[in-house]
Amino acid sequence: MAVKLCLDDKVARLAGVGPKLAEHLQRLRIVRIGDLLFHLPLRYQDRTRLTPIGALRPNVESQIEGTIDAAQVVFGRRRSLVCRVSDGSGAIHLRFFHFNSAQQQRLKTGRRVRCFGEVRRGPKTLEMVHPESQLIDIDNPPAVDAELTPIYPTTEGLHQGRLRKLTDQALAILADSERVDSEELVPPEILDALHLPTLAQALQFVHRPPPDADTETLAQSMHPAQRRLVFEELLAHQLSLKQLRGKARDFAAPVVSVNTLREHLLHAFGFTLTNAQLRVIDEIDEDLTSGVPMLRLLQGDVGAGKTAVAAAVATSLLAANYQVALMAPTELLAEQHAANLHRWFDPLGVDVVLLTSRLTRANRGPLLARLSEPTAVFAVGTHALFQNEVEYGHLGMIIVDEQHRFGVDQRLALRDKGARDGFRPHQLIMTATPIPRTLAMTAYADLDVSILDELPPNRKPVRSVVVPESRRGEIVERIARAVEDGRQVYWVCPLIDESEVLEHQAATDISAQLTAALPDVRVGLVHGRLADRDKDAAMAAFVDGSTDLLVATTVVEVGVDVPNASLMVIENAERLGLSQLHQLRGRVGRGAERSDCVLLYKSPLSRMAQERLQVMRETTDGFVIADKDLELRGPGELLGTRQAGAAQFRIADLSRDAGLLTSVQAAAETVLLDHPQMASALIERWLAERVEYANV
Ligand code: ADP
Ligand code: MG
Repeated sequence: MAVKLCLDDKVARLAGVGPKLAEHLQRLRIVRIGDLLFHLPLRYQDRTRLTPIGALRPNVESQIEGTIDAAQVVFGRRRSLVCRVSDGSGAIHLRFFHFNSAQQQRLKTGRRVRCFGEVRRGPKTLEMVHPESQLIDIDNPPAVDAELTPIYPTTEGLHQGRLRKLTDQALAILADSERVDSEELVPPEILDALHLPTLAQALQFVHRPPPDADTETLAQSMHPAQRRLVFEELLAHQLSLKQLRGKARDFAAPVVSVNTLREHLLHAFGFTLTNAQLRVIDEIDEDLTSGVPMLRLLQGDVGAGKTAVAAAVATSLLAANYQVALMAPTELLAEQHAANLHRWFDPLGVDVVLLTSRLTRANRGPLLARLSEPTAVFAVGTHALFQNEVEYGHLGMIIVDEQHRFGVDQRLALRDKGARDGFRPHQLIMTATPIPRTLAMTAYADLDVSILDELPPNRKPVRSVVVPESRRGEIVERIARAVEDGRQVYWVCPLIDESEVLEHQAATDISAQLTAALPDVRVGLVHGRLADRDKDAAMAAFVDGSTDLLVATTVVEVGVDVPNASLMVIENAERLGLSQLHQLRGRVGRGAERSDCVLLYKSPLSRMAQERLQVMRETTDGFVIADKDLELRGPGELLGTRQAGAAQFRIADLSRDAGLLTSVQAAAETVLLDHPQMASALIERWLAERVEYANV
């Protein structure tokens, strides 16, 4: 080989890689030779030793060697070839359900075999079903493997052996001494301080662990060699977010400060802000005077009063003649916001306009004209806010409500509406889905985070009970009593199968049953199959109190505010994740009245479901629930599929590796300060294909 390959070269340059194989590799995101090295084994097999048959344990993959002392075809429930293998310490059966005469010829009595496979308890003795087998020349037995066998994630048509050979080549290229130094992207002072191995050591170890490697630790991905790679990935991620944040600082943004409009608004509220609200408002006020576009995530549990915070800080921009746009995920929520803002701002002479896709053509024209003027207006709406024909005269701040319901692209579209020549509006992003602190630090390192960790006074925590479905009758009585007392009730029927049809069917059936059982109760029904108009009519009827009981699918999850509702029944609660249960439960407990939540479940409960319901019964603290949720489900699901891009790691796992995050953050500072060229190389290595997406 005349040309020396390097890790940046395309895999197609490796010996034996043709276009077909290159295509398979590409499916595994392996394009360059170096990618092979970051394609880590899922697990390992140990063929470095022979286990005495007498010492085998069931459910463990093992390698044995012995003599076949009996071989016969048995006719049980299924025909199978059974060979008895003994090694002096004990005997085991090899069982083959599929076999041909060649195999039968091979595995004859008297032959010596070496087998690898999972040991199982058989009807008479321990067994290996369809083990790998190799005939052994007793005078000249082959050596056992020198390393553990890595098992890689793979794709159809690409065999483990193939991948192993390719990885061998890549490891050899890495070991080439000049290469090793230029591939190392974590400064030695950081590695030393954390007692982590070098990149070359770590990669060699994880791909080809020595026989004495601690397999237990490897299986848990907690070996220092694995930790080192996880650390590097988290570091790259952190650096990329910091870099994006840095780029955002190159833009200018409105510089505005607090003024008398704020004072007037606080009077109009008719309540006193909580300390948490005051603190968050201060944090935002400071951003608004900095001249750099704010990019702030406001996390606050359901009912914490995020809208009031948004309205309060908006006054600084409105008074300076900027426009503010508040985007909500549903028409209903946008209308609810508009109603509140009208109540608060109309007396102060500030224009509030509502822009949804339902606006009639006649009303639309004047409204768009109004927005294109460079004067103060508070625009509230759905994604209609950033459609093509909408032009903003002077957009100064974007507020995104319930941001987990939007894709990053939608948020960017709205931001770009207000961007021109080096200028960008401020962004305030609000979410009621509490994100655990560890996750926020990582998934949102490009955002500043404010937390509303206090509910307005006089809110009584919702009492939760967990009740088997068989006691449904009692619950119906409870509804009757609540309605007699003038209260309102939600009954939520979540997805019971992976099918929306069934969900809407379940809701329709329940509403019919409850209507029959509760003749004095006015029952409303809302589910995803209804036309928007009917859905909204049903929601509106519940909001204004003309229905008492709302039977709904999970569509009620987002933001509806009906303070008079004090009882929430959630069916099939065992099927829902913690965050969703928490969101649903947050629909009650919004008034001064004590509220209850009934979690109905179908037996038997899985351990996981039991644990979730236990958490729901014990706490109403969104952050405690979020941490538990992260532990039980992992970050991808927690952030929702649309957000998952932000937390998709190749090898890191935030619930497992959260302990590294503090050192990762410190290391990111060091790298940026002392080794900036390494920062870009790290980002390139780990995030090249995602930088575009992450550019929020
Ligand atoms: P969320 O954070 O869930 O969006 P909202 O902004 O909808 O909460 O507020 C929930 C309710 O609490 C609203 O009716 C709002 O007017 C009211 N509210 C907000 N802040 C306070 C406060 N400091 N004291 C009393 N009520 C408040
Ligand atoms: Mg809200």
